[in-house]
Amino acid sequence: MKAEIMAVGTELLLGDILNTNAQFLAQELANLGIEVYYQTVVGDNPKRLKDTIFHAFDRADLIITTGGLGPTEDDLTKETAAEYFGEKLVLDERALGRIKKYFDRTGRTMTQNNVKQAMVPENNCTVLYNDNGTAPGIIMEKNGKMIVMLPGPPKETIPMFRNQVKPYLVKKQEFTFVSRILRVAGVGESAMEDRVKDIIDAQTNPTIAPYAKDGEAILRITAKAKDEAEANELIDPVAELLKERLGNAVYAEGETDMETVVAEMLLERKLTVAVAESCTGGMIASRLVEYPGISAALLEGCVTYSNDAKMHRLGVKAETLEKYTAVSEETAREMAEGIAKTSGADIGIATTGIAGPDGGSEEKPVGLVYIGLSYKGKTEVQEHHFVGKRDKIRERATYTALDWLRRAMLDEE
Ligand code: ATP
Repeated sequence: MKAEIMAVGTELLLGDILNTNAQFLAQELANLGIEVYYQTVVGDNPKRLKDTIFHAFDRADLIITTGGLGPTEDDLTKETAAEYFGEKLVLDERALGRIKKYFDRTGRTMTQNNVKQAMVPENNCTVLYNDNGTAPGIIMEKNGKMIVMLPGPPKETIPMFRNQVKPYLVKKQEFTFVSRILRVAGVGESAMEDRVKDIIDAQTNPTIAPYAKDGEAILRITAKAKDEAEANELIDPVAELLKERLGNAVYAEGETDMETVVAEMLLERKLTVAVAESCTGGMIASRLVEYPGISAALLEGCVTYSNDAKMHRLGVKAETLEKYTAVSEETAREMAEGIAKTSGADIGIATTGIAGPDGGSEEKPVGLVYIGLSYKGKTEVQEHHFVGKRDKIRERATYTALDWLRRAMLDEE
């Protein structure tokens, strides 16, 4: 099945809103193994909308539209699709009843316009009732062509697709596609690919796709099978092989993130942590605080930006700052030890570096960051050279510090 994703709305063409529905649908269709060859955006203009739908059906078997199902005159998606299929629109009493109820529930007054939203094609049509808004979605199907029309607001589009459209499309597909994601930290995308290239090359089902997202390297394993259980059976041994090869670098599977993994590990091991941050300015603490329940593990986070703060709050020695400067291995070490000791935490983490854009020198360039980790009295410091703008350098330092904490906990075992 070849599909086209079509967003309807002048606001999208003007750049007033971002076409997030297209991203959502593209990901969902890829997971279903439905190939998308085109994405289009068209304004609320009857002639151009008609041209676009008719043209899209020359090259696609399935069109999924979002938007243009509203109550106003210029909402014409349904009318245009009905014209393509040669169907007339009739009132759907059930849809009308639901729209009335929706208005009662939200305390708003229904207008005559809303009756238009309850009009549906007379034949070859499946109505998708809307639990989160007024416009029902519609599936029309005839002569091997199908159009799925969804409302524009993502809070309506997403549940309607997941709960009603996806099962409908799955039934049409001979095969199902299941993907699993392995999240890899501390290794760049190309280095990761290099380490598992032979495994990738040897695989046809499942396939393995490496990519990078939000500074993280990811491996997506996708299997084609007749059902989910069979797909998982194909994925399991390949996932194991990849994890064996990459070792500790694989930090998680599926939809999660570094702070969640680290927070859960701290809580499982009943370890406490405190953070002294200079260049990351509270980011490490803030990331950990995103995890509900972290209060059992995170004792304290200090932003010790000035030399005075490093001395008074953490006990960094004046001679150390004078001799080696604030951005040095020695300072990072004393910061990590200082925060662990004064907070009473099992683990102290410290960062000090040059986030830029100014302040770098030949000897200490922008992007130089020292991370200190004091783990139950044993302290180590890593020197890193991050690239990018100020925010990227700070984010990478934060991510790297959390990843090191994760690896340190694993090494302890
Ligand atoms: P309604 O049922 O609310 O009348 P509709 O189906 O007519 O909606 P539109 O009027 O086209 O949809 O869009 C309504 C709102 O939905 C927009 O103002 C926008 O906030 C959001 N929206 C529409 N299309 C998209 C899109 N492609 N991506 C993200 N948001 C969108």
